[in-house]
Amino acid sequence: MKAIVLFGSPGSGKGTQAKLLTECLGLPHVSTGEMLREGIRQGAGVDAAVAAIMHAGSLVSDQVVEAMVEERLGRPDAAKGFVLDGYPRTLAQARHLAGWLEGRGIREVVIHLAVDYNIIIARLTGRRECPRCGTSYNVAFHPPKVDELCDLDGEKLAIREDDREAVIRQRLDAYEGQTRPVLEYLRTARGRVVEVDASNDPPESVYRKIRQALEN
Ligand SMILES: [Zn+2]
Repeated sequence: MKAIVLFGSPGSGKGTQAKLLTECLGLPHVSTGEMLREGIRQGAGVDAAVAAIMHAGSLVSDQVVEAMVEERLGRPDAAKGFVLDGYPRTLAQARHLAGWLEGRGIREVVIHLAVDYNIIIARLTGRRECPRCGTSYNVAFHPPKVDELCDLDGEKLAIREDDREAVIRQRLDAYEGQTRPVLEYLRTARGRVVEVDASNDPPESVYRKIRQALEN
């Protein structure tokens, strides 16, 4: 049983690591954000009230998310393990999850992709996207051949609204404030949080560190 709980701030590459983990280990990726969006698209699983809350940009209540995750983890494809992503997000959710795992004798591994604040700012503010074909660039790490123009169609590259520096700082601060107490709880109550430095290394070497932590 591999119960993996993945934490990572915006820009930590968490999405990439979640994908690698689920593909290589053959485990389902249980992402609460995706489940809520999916539920809204299909109009199933998540009721209209939740959809309305999501559209209003508010947080969905603990009980709703807890029930949704529990239902998901109870499905057959999660019997051998799962990669939890975006959950638990609050202390109440963390306590709930701990109780759920405890009741089944499952010992989870919590992976925290730790990143350096300034490196993340540089990485995220350097992101550019082609408005025509959607190709992604980064002025620092993966620049286009011609400054600010798409390699494929020559379109002027754009910055996504949520990649602007003030917005990024807000997102990082919000993540810190929200996540720190949850990680502290998991560290003290459950005793297993693995810190993986994800500031600088390419995704493959971050992934190697995670796999190493899982073997131990
Ligand atoms: Zn393009």
